[in-house]
Amino acid sequence: MTLLMKGAEVAAKLKEKILKDSSCLISSPTLGIIRVGNRPDNLSYEKGILKRFESLKLAAKIFELPENISQNDFDSAFGKINNDEKIHGLLLFRPLPKNLSDSFACEHINFLKDVDSMSALNAGKIFNGQGGYVPCTPGAVMKILAHYEINLEGKSVVIVGRSPTVGRPLAMLMLKENSTVTICHSKTKDLKAVCSGADVLVACMGKAEFITAEYVKPGAVVVDVGINFKDGRLCGDVDFQSVSPLAGAITPVPGGVGAVTTSILAENLLEAYKNFFNKQEAFF
Ligand code: NAP
Repeated sequence: MTLLMKGAEVAAKLKEKILKDSSCLISSPTLGIIRVGNRPDNLSYEKGILKRFESLKLAAKIFELPENISQNDFDSAFGKINNDEKIHGLLLFRPLPKNLSDSFACEHINFLKDVDSMSALNAGKIFNGQGGYVPCTPGAVMKILAHYEINLEGKSVVIVGRSPTVGRPLAMLMLKENSTVTICHSKTKDLKAVCSGADVLVACMGKAEFITAEYVKPGAVVVDVGINFKDGRLCGDVDFQSVSPLAGAITPVPGGVGAVTTSILAENLLEAYKNFFNKQEAFF
């Protein structure tokens, strides 16, 4: 029988833990969300964050900047929010509009507030296995696997996708768990052969239902990170219908990885808040 790894189950468990951990704080951990313009995908993610944070009794403050803001004004607005002592963590929606660069923001973000892992320092910590705030989507994948007690040690993990926000950091987190990791991308030769050798296959490529049964070893654990729209419906990178009967375990889309991402952001914010107050002082 295939195990369906449900994000909601993992998020519910995290909710319990976050509410318990935050119950004795002296003030409300607050996330600053910086949004330039009104892109629908940003608005949708923002809505999801606000909903999750409300249920977790965490605060979020939105800083909406105009689409046509100049680089100087953007950098100075970012600097001001970055220095705001009432903001404990920062999330900047990226990519920014084409006329803007995020270099200043990535280079100057206060490391203690970098809950979405945008600085090179945080990426370096993840790369070296030295802690740091776990990037939200890779963190959600790892949390789901841990929740369903999928042991990664010695396992062959294949990750399809090498983006700096998902595939690459995820590979480092998998390596930390002592798995043997292969990262695939659009130039990988014979993708089917590589994927079908995987004990754990993670699809983060952004190609609707690309991973079919031929890519999957019977009994493999399949994690679908993709969020795509096909024929007016939401779907992942995995063809759930053909893959689920032969997989040992699988995440659905919707209701899989995406359902856990905002909980990881919340966990990171809580950590940022504690770091801000130097831990002990943050508690009664
Ligand atoms: P991205 O930056 O577009 O990266 C896609 C990666 O997939 C690239 O490395 C690309 O290879 C690789 N790829 C594309 N087509 C391929 C093919 N035919 N064969 C092998 N590799 C291929 O995307 P992303 O930001 O990492 O996001 C990936 C997916 O996850 C998207 O569907 C996105 O919406 C979703 N996502 C979900 C969450 C969540 O919370 N669930 C969060 C973030 C993103 P190259 O490097 O060679 O181009």
